[in-house]
Amino acid sequence: MLKLPVCPYCGARFFYRSVKSSAKKKTKMCPYCNKEFIIYKKFKYLLFLAAFILLVAVNWFFLTVPAMNLTFLATVTALGVGAAWALVPFTVRYRKKGAPKK
Ligand SMILES: [Zn+2]
Repeated sequence: MLKLPVCPYCGARFFYRSVKSSAKKKTKMCPYCNKEFIIYKKFKYLLFLAAFILLVAVNWFFLTVPAMNLTFLATVTALGVGAAWALVPFTVRYRKKGAPKK
């Protein structure tokens, strides 16, 4: 489910950094075959839902530990959210545009 996207035209693989840098764009030009494709995110909401549930569970667990403090819980939560963000490029998918422009 979590993998980096490939070009829908030539099957070229993209590096994590290039996927991440274009994750907010709507379209992208393949540097290998120069065709434009549409960028979308397939499991983004599922990813954040899973991260949210996991973080609630982790916080719940740590609350049972004596001498727990809020700074630690906040740090754990921030790290969890950061990890979810780091996984976003793995939810990115590329698909072909309707008709190629001439
Ligand atoms: Zn390509």
